[in-house]
Amino acid sequence: MSFIVAIDGPAGSGKGTITKLVGEKLKLVNIDTGATFRCVALNMLQKNIKIEEENKIEEMLNNIRIEMKENGEVFLNGEEVTKKIRENEVNNFVSPVSTIKVVRNKLLEIQRKMAEGKNVIMEGRDIGTTVFPNADVKIYLDASPEERAKRRLIQNEEKGIKTSYEEVLQNIIDRDKRDSSREIAPLRQAEDAVYVDTTNLTIEEVVDKIIKIIEKRRYKN
Ligand code: C5P
Repeated sequence: MSFIVAIDGPAGSGKGTITKLVGEKLKLVNIDTGATFRCVALNMLQKNIKIEEENKIEEMLNNIRIEMKENGEVFLNGEEVTKKIRENEVNNFVSPVSTIKVVRNKLLEIQRKMAEGKNVIMEGRDIGTTVFPNADVKIYLDASPEERAKRRLIQNEEKGIKTSYEEVLQNIIDRDKRDSSREIAPLRQAEDAVYVDTTNLTIEEVVDKIIKIIEKRRYKN
């Protein structure tokens, strides 16, 4: 039996950092579902496939191979793309790509398979609502858009990616809007998810809070 922790929330809410740290501390396999959408977006850009070219998208999905290594490296069809999938070109394209039905269906299958038989902490937008509606623990992480933009900017700088605060904030606002208003599997808090606002909390405080929530559920029986 696997144990599943679902972490959902908007861009820059801290999901990536928090999921990684909590996963390491509790020995849960970390699965970043955003990276799978980013891989599809990158593959479409590489092959010059447009959003409306459904046949080409299906053909691409039939051949796609996405691998996530334990050290966080991401491989798309055998190519290491860890950094490439975080660049602006992908940032701006990924949200429209994630509204395509065939893409969501294929990635749902891939994401469920990635978790098979494992104890996982999975982060995304629709994990607690769609991918694993019966997850053992569901957390919804949030923070103000300005705080989230600040965090993304620092992250980008650390990764050597050049962007401005205004550009990042606008990208976050646009993505939030598209992610929560799309028809299929929109970003929203599952009814049974615990809401955690991270705006004024340090990373350590959020990690502690989440570990407490998980341990309470994990050892309740
Ligand atoms: O989490 P991250 O910012 O890397 O996700 C990139 C994009 O992938 C999101 O803006 C969203 O459009 C899409 N996504 C999604 N469902 C998920 C994870 C990500 O639609 N479970």
